[in-house]
Amino acid sequence: MWVPKTRLPDAVVFQAMPGCLFCRIIRGESPSKKVYEDERVYAFEDIRPQAPTHVLIVPKKHIVGLKEATPEDAEVIGYCHLIAAQIARERKIEDGYRTVFNVGPKSGQSIFHLHLHLLGGRVLRWPPG
Ligand code: ZN
Repeated sequence: MWVPKTRLPDAVVFQAMPGCLFCRIIRGESPSKKVYEDERVYAFEDIRPQAPTHVLIVPKKHIVGLKEATPEDAEVIGYCHLIAAQIARERKIEDGYRTVFNVGPKSGQSIFHLHLHLLGGRVLRWPPG
């Protein structure tokens, strides 16, 4: 498994948001099929996959969504994409994949803890529905 070159200080601890499913998954309190984990992010298989590869990359910090993110979240938001790229490389789907943030209920965002979708392994149409 690829290991990121930069590391956060070991003392970084993220606060869980009570009642948040993804905070529970990150803490191992709810089951998930883990794909990757490091100090900053946790990645797991979507339970309702929309493509042969459908992985969610989730910052360990509870960020509600992209519109609630602040400048201090910029690094981890970019980092989620690099992890997605690495998972795509390992799964050999680099001929076509997509990274998506759904923002707000009309987009289909149903869990209000920011998460990046990695979709690939099939032809992806444009524009997305
Ligand atoms: Zn959360």
